[in-house]
Amino acid sequence: MRRLAGLVFGLFFLSSAYADNKTTLHDFRFWSSPDRTRIVIDVDPGVRFSINQKNSQFTLGIRNAKILKDTYKKLFFTDQRIKKTRIKRDGTTYQFKFKLHGQYQIKSYTLKPNDKYRYNRLVIDLYDQKNQAIKAVKKPAIQQRATKIILIDPGHGGEDPGAIGYKHSKEKRITLSIAKKLAKKINATKGMKAILTRRGDYYVGLTKRIRIAQANKASLFVSIHADAVKSRRAHGASVYTLSERGGSTKFARRLETSQNTSDQFGVKQQSNNKDQYLNKILWDLSRKDRNTQSQKLGVKILEQLKKLVICIRKFPKSWVCRSKTPAIPSILIETAFISNPKEEQRLNNNKEQDKIANAIYQGIINFYK
Ligand SMILES: [Zn+2]
Repeated sequence: MRRLAGLVFGLFFLSSAYADNKTTLHDFRFWSSPDRTRIVIDVDPGVRFSINQKNSQFTLGIRNAKILKDTYKKLFFTDQRIKKTRIKRDGTTYQFKFKLHGQYQIKSYTLKPNDKYRYNRLVIDLYDQKNQAIKAVKKPAIQQRATKIILIDPGHGGEDPGAIGYKHSKEKRITLSIAKKLAKKINATKGMKAILTRRGDYYVGLTKRIRIAQANKASLFVSIHADAVKSRRAHGASVYTLSERGGSTKFARRLETSQNTSDQFGVKQQSNNKDQYLNKILWDLSRKDRNTQSQKLGVKILEQLKKLVICIRKFPKSWVCRSKTPAIPSILIETAFISNPKEEQRLNNNKEQDKIANAIYQGIINFYK
């Protein structure tokens, strides 16, 4: 009889837990970048939360929540903005108290699931108060004018992993690794200086990437990526160029308007295989704009990459070197197919990464010859 009562109670408890419809907090992720810290929480739909900031502390309250055991461990994150985290629980209301190193501008929003993230996401950004304009790394002094600034843009980062390989390698890691190798080579070259749009695992908005290039008076903008398609057999490198027509301001503005809907993380929202990032950066790629500096740069780099890979998908056939240089020659390189197991292995290999970086480097050198 006792046993039966226990069973009945147990069943009742179970069903009432379901009736409660609690919001499960599935995961916590933190991304620190030079100008902000991003907190991402995987949640169930309809999450009810509040944010209160007081001096150098902010409290995130989530009602009717449930934290998984594994989630707990990930909560205690510290960086240049977050000093300490405490959890206070009142029934099913959780209060996450973040002790901060200063006062920050806090922005929050939720995002729906997509092909990279299966849960809804609650995003909280802590921005540095002085919304510092993107500064040039160094003021371009008169004697430095001859120095060519090469902006290297490692694609994706942070909450945006980019393409995922057959064996689950993330594009964002490979692009950063190749970019750093390329930067080293450029910085060891007289008259050249490399600047990276990101130096760690965090996301930088597309507009900001372009603005960093403009603020630094970059001579070239080189975005590094790794391609992915459904077929495991697709292989090879490809280079895309940006049109210079209309200038870089128009380009940045165009990017900005497209960003509101899809650039929260640069994560692809569409179900097709095209890299969303690539789509955006190529908004004005058209046949009639072939004769540009970007094209010339693209050809020079492809000539080098061709030595490494078997197949080139896109090869600009001709170009004319124009005397006027209206905007920053910009190219986007898909170094190889991360979706191809063989190429994925190559992309993860240190020596192979160095070969790719060297090919890009040689292409840049030949472009300036
Ligand atoms: Zn990419």
